[in-house]
Amino acid sequence: MTSFTDLQISSEIIKAMSAMGWVEPTPVQIESIPVGLKGADMYAQAQTGTGKTGAYGTIMLERIKPKMPSPSALVLVPTRELANQVAEELTKLAKFTGHDCLPIYGGVGIEPQIAKLRRGIDIVIATPGRAKDLINRGEMDLSKVSVVVLDEADRMLDMGFIRDINFILAKVPKKRQTLLFSATMSSEIREMAMRQMVNPKEVLVSKDEPVLDLTKQYYMVVQKEEKRDALYTVLDMYEPKAIVFCHTKHKADQVSKKLQRHNYLAGAIHGDVAQNKREKVLKGFKDGSIRILVATDVAARGLDIDSVDYVINFDAPSDPDTYVHRIGRTGRAGKEGAAISFFLPEERREVRGLERRTGKRIEQLDIDIVHKEEPEVKKLDEVRIAIQASVNQPYAAKRTRSHGNVASIEINLGGADKIGKGEIVRMIKNDTGLASRDIGKITMGDRYTFVEVFKKDAEKVIMSLCNQFYGSKVVKARIV
Ligand code: AMP
Repeated sequence: MTSFTDLQISSEIIKAMSAMGWVEPTPVQIESIPVGLKGADMYAQAQTGTGKTGAYGTIMLERIKPKMPSPSALVLVPTRELANQVAEELTKLAKFTGHDCLPIYGGVGIEPQIAKLRRGIDIVIATPGRAKDLINRGEMDLSKVSVVVLDEADRMLDMGFIRDINFILAKVPKKRQTLLFSATMSSEIREMAMRQMVNPKEVLVSKDEPVLDLTKQYYMVVQKEEKRDALYTVLDMYEPKAIVFCHTKHKADQVSKKLQRHNYLAGAIHGDVAQNKREKVLKGFKDGSIRILVATDVAARGLDIDSVDYVINFDAPSDPDTYVHRIGRTGRAGKEGAAISFFLPEERREVRGLERRTGKRIEQLDIDIVHKEEPEVKKLDEVRIAIQASVNQPYAAKRTRSHGNVASIEINLGGADKIGKGEIVRMIKNDTGLASRDIGKITMGDRYTFVEVFKKDAEKVIMSLCNQFYGSKVVKARIV
């Protein structure tokens, strides 16, 4: 395992890295720092979240002297957000080296930026437009710059900054080190690298390496019987779009059902979930009608779903690689995310291994677990009795109420769910073996539909409907 010390990084920077909670270098850092410290030009394919800022930041801080009268390093970035983000990270990294960093971008007053530049800045992190403006005003002297970074070079090209970049780089001495980072490597980017660099080295990092950057990691030590309450507490507190991971199919089912009973918008996917139901659940998760996906590791592999706010490990992952895969579901595409893992007291020591694997600290989340009473659930027998009772004692006839040998079943679907009577018939026939002639009058309202069936079939119909989804809605049915 490579450490920061193995990479010949000075103790001031390592100290700052530890203060930031970094335990070991990321693959981009391992590959690029040694090349950069030798002074070579280099281009690397690395997206946000790979630790690229730390990589080029370290190279710059090692190679330029602090407290110089004019900038020694320049980082060009496409957006003001990135300028701020990079400046923040470099300032933290330079905590013990004493380099001054300044973000510079348009859309805000130029005067404060000029004032700061005049006082002396070592590293300027700029968007191309504002940098050009400052150069034209004679307020930014780049003649002492010895390291240039082009960050998110592909985005800068997309945004049409190529001419500004060429203009700016013409103001920087030819004898300099140039580092280029880009999430994608097109021929255009390679061309730019060749034009702006001397004999550049290409740094390759495995694309499969999951990106952990923006994911905050937490753990909670919980007793087995507290797990469900811990889950409800976390969900109530943060109201996230979340994936909840369970060890087994059975557990995933159980957890999902409990969540539904507590009125959380939950759905389960695992190997035993039929394809059509699985598709419905995933569609629901995409369109937001399901907010909590309860999954097993196998089922979650290869799922095409966007970043979620939270990954909750209801059951601790079996090994560090599984952990990395699971939490890779959050904190993607520049969005922040969090992973919370529940550990039983006897599993607690596994946290260290996960920290080692991800190179990040996992903080203990200290929240009070709120106990939730289980909602009263009627057991199958009780449902039967209730059905029997309502069949035997029909309500005073209103609209379509049970009468004679006919029972009326209320279903929680109606016009508002964009369902038609034909679909209702199809759903009833599903699993029950009933034929169309066994199904009587159908009265459809906006939110409810009443269907007449023979009393002898009522229980079967209700049982079958209650196991179904319509879209992502859990179907509910009862006799009236
Ligand atoms: P970047 O790819 O530069 O946008 O970095 C993304 C995030 O990863 C930032 O929050 C960094 O602070 C963090 N980071 C960078 N290097 C490391 C490391 N070696 N260990 C842990 N976190 C890191």
